[in-house]
Amino acid sequence: MEILLVNDLWVKYFTLSGVVSAVSGVSFKLRRGEMLAIVGESGSGKSTLGLALLNMVPKPGRIIRGEVVFNGVDILKLDPREIRKIRGSRISVVFQDPFTTLDPLRRIVDQFEEFLIEHGVEKVKVRTIVREYLEAVGLSERIMYSYPHQLSGGQKQRVSIAMAIALNPEVIIADEPTTALDVVVQKQIMDLIDSIKEKYKSSIILITHDLALALERADTIMVMYGGYVMEYAEKSELFSNMRHPYTRALFEALPRVLQRDLPRSLPGYPPDLRNPPPGCIFHPRCEFAVEKCKRELPPLIEVSRNHFVSCHRVGELL
Ligand code: ATP
Ligand code: SF4
Repeated sequence: MEILLVNDLWVKYFTLSGVVSAVSGVSFKLRRGEMLAIVGESGSGKSTLGLALLNMVPKPGRIIRGEVVFNGVDILKLDPREIRKIRGSRISVVFQDPFTTLDPLRRIVDQFEEFLIEHGVEKVKVRTIVREYLEAVGLSERIMYSYPHQLSGGQKQRVSIAMAIALNPEVIIADEPTTALDVVVQKQIMDLIDSIKEKYKSSIILITHDLALALERADTIMVMYGGYVMEYAEKSELFSNMRHPYTRALFEALPRVLQRDLPRSLPGYPPDLRNPPPGCIFHPRCEFAVEKCKRELPPLIEVSRNHFVSCHRVGELL
């Protein structure tokens, strides 16, 4: 049973130097309790997509069309007051840089309590909830009375996660939640996100540039390139039956233990989304490109149950 249904979503930024097509016709479903990883290089539209799910795309961006149906209601049709009620309490967001969510000049406890009160929690209950959720993310009570600058990057990210889960949201969007952290802390934070998923049965959208992380943690993976979905499948299916040339290139670029050859990097550069190439947006970098790829946009087709690929040559490759 799906909790979120995204249908044909398009987002553009209207900049002085041109119109950037950041998200182009993206559709997917998120099931209850599922972790969906949205994977792609920098500039592939992942963060814009994450923001669009809560109608939070900043200016000069605009959602051109599409639906984001949450529990049967199209979020994009709600007025700002109704969206504010959903944001934080039913769908919450954890950003890469906790500095963007925490005010450096105020103690953690004051910020946390204000957030809870804004979302309708009774004043007498807030302190208990703050304590409970800081403990749930492995932080001691002492942290409550600290200022953000007194905490490490990992501790700040734990505070952001505590705030993100405190109102028991059904969906958590985690945008590169570990990118700014060192390897050991990255693992701890991802273990914490996994345990939240199990304990609270939350659905999680993990936005990451790291295919290895997605393969390790997610249930389902959606690979994006230049604003388009390239491939979308359950993890085990994707791992054993990778079909899109871009997904394979990402996979071949991963460093492996015990591999003697160096990982293969993908030649070329990501597309300029103010002036994207015609046809398949990946064709200038694709070693399998043929004439048709330069002219026609490949449709996203279901190649096997719940496995979608956007490639003209999907039937021939493999
Ligand atoms: P990253 O991991 O680097 O954040 P991403 O995959 O999340 O990349 P987005 O940040 O969504 O990608 O960017 C998609 C495209 O939209 C890029 O071409 C980017 O330059 C453009 N873009 C993003 N934000 C803005 C903005 N505020 N104004 C103009 N263009 C933007
Ligand atoms: Fe490569 Fe063509 Fe497939 Fe695009 S459609 S990924 S260019 S083979």
